Amino acid sequence: MIYLNGKFMPIEKATISVLDRGFIFGDGVYEVIPVYSRKPFRLEHHLLRLQHSLDGIRLNNPYDNEHWHNLLEQIIDNNKGEDQYIYLHITRGVAKREHAFPENTAPTVFIMSSPLPEPPQKLLEQGVTAVTANDNRWIRCDIKAISLLPNVLLRQLATDVQAAETILLRDGFLTEGSSSSIFVVKDGLLLAPPKSHLMLPGITYDVVLDLAEENNIPYKVREISEIELRVADEILLTSSTREITAITRLDDQPVGCGKPGARYSQLQKLYQHYKRTVMRNELS
Ligand code: PMP
Repeated sequence: MIYLNGKFMPIEKATISVLDRGFIFGDGVYEVIPVYSRKPFRLEHHLLRLQHSLDGIRLNNPYDNEHWHNLLEQIIDNNKGEDQYIYLHITRGVAKREHAFPENTAPTVFIMSSPLPEPPQKLLEQGVTAVTANDNRWIRCDIKAISLLPNVLLRQLATDVQAAETILLRDGFLTEGSSSSIFVVKDGLLLAPPKSHLMLPGITYDVVLDLAEENNIPYKVREISEIELRVADEILLTSSTREITAITRLDDQPVGCGKPGARYSQLQKLYQHYKRTVMRNELS
C-alpha cells in the first residue's frame, strides 16, 4: 500500500504524469526513515531535514508535522514487517516543460514502505569492502535531492568490483559515501567529517555522535584527509537502512587488521541497545 497525492492504493495502481518535474528535471527531494517495531525512528529529525531540503529547493512543505505523522502511521499500519523503511518523495508537480518554476502547481507527494531486512551475519562478522572516488557531485549535497545521477554513477564504481560502497574524496578530504556517512577510527579516536554543504547531514551520523558523547568514547569532528582515511584502524559506514557497518577493505587493501574493529563492535552494541530503548519508551 502506497500513498500518492492524497490517496492510499496498491503500488501497481499508482501512476504519475510524464510531465512530472521529478521525472523531467529530477526537481524534488526525498527522505528515508527507518521504522523499528512499527515506530518511525528519529522522525522529528527526518522531518526537520525534509524541511531543510524543501527550503533548499524553494518548495513549500505540503503538510504540517501532524499530517506527516498521520500519513506515516497509516503507511506503516498497511505494510508488512515490524521493521520497515519509509521512502517519501515530493516533487514540484506536473507542468509544461519549462525550467523556471511553474505557478500554482500542486506538488506530487509519494510515500511507500518496504520491509527492513536484518543485516546478514556474514556482514556483521566480516564487514564490507569499499572503493574511493573523486566526489564530483554538485555543491549542495546537504539537500536530499532526488536527482541522484552522480551518486548512482559513483555507487556503480563499487558495484562493478563487488564492493558495497564508494567513499568520496573532495580536494583530498573525505566527504561521505555515495549513500552513507563515513567515520574513521585511529588509535581509538572516532573522527567524523564536519557537516557542510558538501555532505548530507546524516541522521544516523547524529545518533553515532550522540552515543559517543554519552558513552565517553573519544571523538572529534574535523576534516579527514585522504591519508588519514588510508591509514585508519577502522572505517565505519552509517545510514538509516544500513545502520552501522564496518568497512574492512578499502581499494583492495585491508583496513587495520581487515576485520571489524573494537570501536565498531562497541558502537554497534550501543546502537542496537539505543534503538530498543527508544522504541520501548515510544520516543522518536
Ligand atoms: N549521505 C548520503 C549521500 C546518503 O544518501 C545517506 C543515506 N540517505 C546518508 C549520507 C546517511 O544518512 P542517514 O543516516 O540519514 O540515512
